[in-house]
Amino acid sequence: MSPWHKNLLMTNHVDLHTHSTASDGSYRPAEVVHLAKDAGLRAMALTDHDTTDGLAEALAAGAELGVEVIPGVEISTRHVGDSMHILGYFLDFHSGKLAERLAVLKQARKDRNPKIIAKLNALGLAITMEQVERISGGGQVGRPHIARVLLERGYVRTMQQAFDIYLKNGGKAYVAKFRFPPAEALEMIREAGGVPVLAHPFTLGLGSLGALRDLLRDLQALGLAGIETFYAEHTPEQEALYLKLAQELGLLVTGGSDFHGDNKPEVTLGNIRSRNRLTYDLVTALKAWRKKEYGLV
Ligand code: AMP
Ligand code: ZN
Ligand code: FE
Ligand code: FE
Repeated sequence: MSPWHKNLLMTNHVDLHTHSTASDGSYRPAEVVHLAKDAGLRAMALTDHDTTDGLAEALAAGAELGVEVIPGVEISTRHVGDSMHILGYFLDFHSGKLAERLAVLKQARKDRNPKIIAKLNALGLAITMEQVERISGGGQVGRPHIARVLLERGYVRTMQQAFDIYLKNGGKAYVAKFRFPPAEALEMIREAGGVPVLAHPFTLGLGSLGALRDLLRDLQALGLAGIETFYAEHTPEQEALYLKLAQELGLLVTGGSDFHGDNKPEVTLGNIRSRNRLTYDLVTALKAWRKKEYGLV
């Protein structure tokens, strides 16, 4: 096919939240980029949990296929009762400081997973760390992989049930994991030249608009640049609310599907519930912010 034909197939659509086998997605980084190409996406960000290990492969695939791949990450931070996810975009992922901090999180996972398995074993669910590692595809191991093994071995009927009964905070086999406070995640992203964005705010379980506004103000004072407004599971009302808050506070808006492949089969690349189109202007705004904030050309 000629390049001219390829251009015809390319749209102005983007997806700024995706996972690969480097964390808990089911496709390799290059495969995610291929899927983005097939979906006609102009740009995508790979935002694996607590790791940049998939970025080199994704960027190489992007260069080959003509998809703009934005190097990203999604860091789980400490938040009352549960965790708060912070996305980072346009990272210099060769930054030694970032790698050093992410290594701390990698170790925390390594310490935690065998403890979860031991708890499950004590409950009579005979699964092993080897089975979980095999299903993870070689990247970091997390609870979704454990959930998949529980599903495949017939101990639960769905991955969600694995979380609800055993793996969620408060579940029978839950083990807490070390997390940095949000301020530290914001700092490590900024130190690597990245743009920090609060991921899927609805998961924070904040009851009121005022509570979310206060939280955003606090995070903004610590360096937060944006809020993930468009998201697979956000309702149109939530979308409108986050958009309004972003405008009021002067925050960037971003959006993505949180694609995990077969580990979250209901979510497809480039698509969100409201059917609002995620377009390239989101990327343009991220770039402009970076230029202004860091004085880059
Ligand atoms: P981990 O990185 O091991 O803490 O696993 C975090 C991932 O597990 C999240 O990104 C979600 O994909 C998934 N997860 C966490 N809590 C739940 C839940 N209550 N129900 C379903 N999936 C969950
Ligand atoms: Zn995930
Ligand atoms: Fe997340
Ligand atoms: Fe995610």
